[in-house]
Amino acid sequence: MNERNIFIVRCGEVALKGLNKPYFERMLVERIKRVLKKYDGIEVKRHEGLIYVRAEKNLDPDEITGVISKVFGVASISPALEAESNLDAIGETAVSMMLDLIEKKGIKTFKVEAKRADKNFPVKSPEIGRIIGAKILIGCKVLKVDVHNPDCLLHVDLRHDVSYVYEQKISGFGGLPLGTNGRGMVLLSGGIDSPVAAWMMAKRGMMIEAVHFHSYPYTSERAQEKVEELAGIVSSYCGRFKMHVINLLPVQEKIVENCPEEETTILVRRFMMRIAEKIAEKRDCMMLITGENLGQVASQTAEALVVTDACVKMPVMRPLIAMDKVDIMEKAKEIGTFETSILPYEDCCTVFLPKHPATKPKLERILESESRLDVEALVAAAVESAEVINISPEL
Ligand code: ATP
Ligand code: MG
Repeated sequence: MNERNIFIVRCGEVALKGLNKPYFERMLVERIKRVLKKYDGIEVKRHEGLIYVRAEKNLDPDEITGVISKVFGVASISPALEAESNLDAIGETAVSMMLDLIEKKGIKTFKVEAKRADKNFPVKSPEIGRIIGAKILIGCKVLKVDVHNPDCLLHVDLRHDVSYVYEQKISGFGGLPLGTNGRGMVLLSGGIDSPVAAWMMAKRGMMIEAVHFHSYPYTSERAQEKVEELAGIVSSYCGRFKMHVINLLPVQEKIVENCPEEETTILVRRFMMRIAEKIAEKRDCMMLITGENLGQVASQTAEALVVTDACVKMPVMRPLIAMDKVDIMEKAKEIGTFETSILPYEDCCTVFLPKHPATKPKLERILESESRLDVEALVAAAVESAEVINISPEL
C-alpha cells in the first residue's frame, strides 16, 4: 500500500465558503495540479473535505511539500503514509514510519492520537490509539510512550476506504485560491513594500500583473534585473505574469522643467498611477495595487495619498496601508523577497528627488502645475513605449 507518498492538504478559509465551497475547492485543486505539473505521475483528488496528493516514491517529499505550501488557500499539509483500514495494516505502516523517524530525527518517545472518521469501525478512537501504540512498542524497541511531551505525536486517521498515518503538520499561508478574485495591476518597484503588497492581494485570490518604471540611464540595468528577480519570487506564489516596463524619464524631465521642485514627487506619482491605470484597462485588470503605507514618506501622507488617488478612476488597493514597517519587513523575509529588496540599486523615484518635498500637497495647486504639461500625450507615449517581460518563477 505504501508504494506512493501521500500528502494530506487541508483547506483554510476555503472550507468556510458555504454554498460556494465546491467552486473554491475545485479552484484549489486546479492550482495544486498546476504547480505540480512539472512532476510526473502526480494525482490530486478531493475527498471528504480534504485534498489528497499522491506522488511517486522517487520524488522528494520535502520538495513536494514546499511547492504545495506556496499555494494560496492551503492551510496545512501532512506528508502521510496510506494503509488499509484494519489495525494490522495501520500498525505495520505506523512502525515503518516510526523506524524512519528514529533514523532521521533520533526520536525516543511518542504518543499516538487516533481519529475515527468511519464511525462504523468497531473500535473507538482511544482504543485504536492504544492498540497502534502497543504495536509500535513491539516494532520499535528503542521507543517509549510519553503522553505529555512526546518527541513524536503520531496521527492515525482511520477512514472508511483507506487510512492515513502522519506526523508533521506544515503550515501553508491560508488565503484563497488564485483566480477566485479578479485581476489587479501592481506598481512594482525594487523596494521592500510593493512585492509584499502584490503577494498579499494574490493571497486573497487575485491574479496579478505588474508595471515597473525606471529612469534609464539614471537607473542602471542592474536595478532592472533586481526588479525582475523580485517579480520572479512573487510569481513563485502567484504564477507567471507579465511585467510592463516603462522609462519614466521623459515624463520626469518635463515635470522638472515646468513645475515647482517641491511638487516633483507627487506629480511623478500621479503620472505613474495614470500610466498604470491605462495599462490595467488594456489588460483587463480591475484595480491598481501599490505598496504605499500611511506616513512612511512624503508622498504617503494622508494628503498626498488623496491627491494621488484623485487622478485615477480605478480603485487603488494599498494592502500595507496601516502596517508598521517592521511588520512589512518580517513579511518580506517570510515570503523570501527581503534579501533582494535591500540590494542597493537606485529607483526612479530617487532621481530628481526634491530637497523639500511637499508633504501636504493641495489638489488645486497640483492641477495648476499639471496644466503646464500635455498630460494625455505624455501618458499615451509612456504606455506606447512599454516593454513587456514574461515573469516566471524560474527567472
Ligand atoms: P517600495 O518599498 O515598494 O519601493 P517605498 O516605500 O519605496 O515602496 P515609494 O517609492 O514612495 O515607497 O513608492 C510607493 C509605491 O509606489 C510603491 O510601493 C510602488 O507600489 C509604487 N512605486 C514606486 N516606485 C515605483 C517604480 N519604480 N515602479 C513601479 N511602481 C513604483
Ligand atoms: Mg520605492
